[in-house]
Amino acid sequence: MFSKLLIANRGEIACRVMRTAKRLGIRTVAVYSDADVGALHVALADEAIRIGPAPALESYLVAERIVAAAQSVGADAIHPGYGFLSENADFAEAVEAAGITFVGPSAQAIRAMGLKDAAKALMEQSGVPVVPGYHGDRQDADFLAEEAANVGYPVLIKARAGGGGKGMRRVDGAADFPAALEAARREAEAAFGDGAVLIEKYLTKPRHIEVQVFGDRHGNILHLYERDCSLQRRHQKVIEEAPAPGMTAEVRRAMGEAAVRAAQAIGYVGAGTVEFIADVTDGLWPDQFYFMEMNTRLQVEHPVTEAITGIDLVEWQLRAAAGETLPKRQSEIAIDGWAFEARIYAEDPSRGFLPATGQLTTLSFPEDGVRVDAGVRQGDRITPFYDPLIAKLIVHGPNRSTALARLENALRACRIGGTVTNLDFLARLAAEPDFRAGHPDTGLIDRSIDRLSAPPVPNDAALTLAAIISTGALQPDGSADPWSSLGHWQIWGDANRNIAIEHLGGRTTVALAARGRDQFAVHTGAAALPVVILDRFADGARVEISGAQQEFRFLREGEQITLFLQGDTYVLRLPDALSAGHASEIADDAVSAPMPGIVKLVRVRPGDTVEKGQALAVMEAMKMELTLSASRAGVVESVLVSEGEQVSAGAVLVMLQPESAE
Ligand code: ADP
Repeated sequence: MFSKLLIANRGEIACRVMRTAKRLGIRTVAVYSDADVGALHVALADEAIRIGPAPALESYLVAERIVAAAQSVGADAIHPGYGFLSENADFAEAVEAAGITFVGPSAQAIRAMGLKDAAKALMEQSGVPVVPGYHGDRQDADFLAEEAANVGYPVLIKARAGGGGKGMRRVDGAADFPAALEAARREAEAAFGDGAVLIEKYLTKPRHIEVQVFGDRHGNILHLYERDCSLQRRHQKVIEEAPAPGMTAEVRRAMGEAAVRAAQAIGYVGAGTVEFIADVTDGLWPDQFYFMEMNTRLQVEHPVTEAITGIDLVEWQLRAAAGETLPKRQSEIAIDGWAFEARIYAEDPSRGFLPATGQLTTLSFPEDGVRVDAGVRQGDRITPFYDPLIAKLIVHGPNRSTALARLENALRACRIGGTVTNLDFLARLAAEPDFRAGHPDTGLIDRSIDRLSAPPVPNDAALTLAAIISTGALQPDGSADPWSSLGHWQIWGDANRNIAIEHLGGRTTVALAARGRDQFAVHTGAAALPVVILDRFADGARVEISGAQQEFRFLREGEQITLFLQGDTYVLRLPDALSAGHASEIADDAVSAPMPGIVKLVRVRPGDTVEKGQALAVMEAMKMELTLSASRAGVVESVLVSEGEQVSAGAVLVMLQPESAE
């Protein structure tokens, strides 16, 4: 076995690979860019080597730097993780040429699967079913149009060098073919420098089912069953599961055998995934699934296979790379129960899943029986440089319905503050009837996207709690209780106050009256709800609203409240409550974003003299325009953002020169 492993990756996958390496007694080496100096994967490693500036093209994608880093610390193996250089045959070759073991297949195997047309041709020769269509060399438009007609519309034009859905066009009839071909070619040429295409039969109700395979250097190849990755948004996987719902013993055997044949055809060593597309118009049948592509690396969704087989896939990768025989035989691998994985991202479903950044001021995951593969800790930043994946949540259960219920509960139990996330979207998706019934298909999310991605509208309890939080009465020591402290509240007496609360759905005014120590009456609509504060914690409280107890957590950052209540996350804003007084207290040299949003206008430049109250920048947040003004007169020292930039809550937009310097 290896003595020192360099992980040529970052984030959750680097951390996950290190966990297994440590268990096997292998020393670990992290590589990092300038954006990741303090990242979790760096902290977990025994050694860490800087490989360049933040952009991946200048760090995580520079093969020579990574090989040099491995040589400098005497690493005897490199694990590429997924993404970055993991499927780069030249990198695999460079690693081996440096006398270091590449934890993955041969460069030759990676190349054989690199182009879709060549891979399909090879698979066809090896007796693996491929989607009907044309994947030969001829590229003249008339010939391809004839082939499309032979295949039968609708067809899918795909770039042979394709990836990430680029250069793909669905065509419904012969009249549209020439224009679609032109468009697909142009896109493929621009994205991959290769305009060659293939034609495929377009399946109207497809499922994405993939098989995990493994090979060793002694010619053994076996499979670890299937995963269903049909829940996709723009060809990106969202929730994955294993095994596949509705799978029969017959289809499973046929798919497993086809996957093993695919791996055998290229003498595969290590972990790989053979992706199939199944036409499920009339259910799953052994003659209605087709090879799509092979990923010659570990997949993001590998943990669901680990959950149902009890096998550590990274351990097997390391053993295979070290020349050991695979630890088990096919007959010794069984499926135990059901598993799901959800990918939690910093992104905003209500804005077309716009990637977000931010500092994770709150990060808390459920602990009982849930596997969390995270690459970040509380306080870490999601930067714009890399994939905004926060964590993967993996649950396991004795059967599908129990596992799925656990997934929904686990998603609802996560608390993430400081950035917008897709948690609510995922939890709603987990409850989606077609998915629950075991009928996922690649169009399921798109059909319900509006409902799944709408921001949660705060209910009476959320509005009530936001109003009480706004008074400061929930500070852990109760010091800001209106009845025990002097301050803004004293002058209110027990009169009603109106508190405006802004949320994504609009603005609601709540009337609040303090009725005694820890007691309030809150009107959110018709009736007054009696509220009693029962207990306060560092980050939350337990209250009774109309006789029902509610425990919740919250985060207050200036005017913004992030409320975690019964599995929902609400981002609320208090546009006026106490904020004038509050703002002047914290007025300093920085003008920062009160909530996540987009910078629409920057009105000043460094060196400008500004008056108190002068507008410095305009942001758009939660569909509203916010003008950010100078809290004092001064001179602009620096402008840290540009127009169009997405910023997180608390991000500094403009700095004024310190007063002493003026
Ligand atoms: P890429 O490499 O660009 O990601 P793939 O060939 O892996 O492209 O296909 C990505 C997704 O596109 C699949 O998971 C599936 O949802 C859809 N898709 C691919 N081929 C077909 C087809 N022949 N018919 C219908 N949908 C398809």
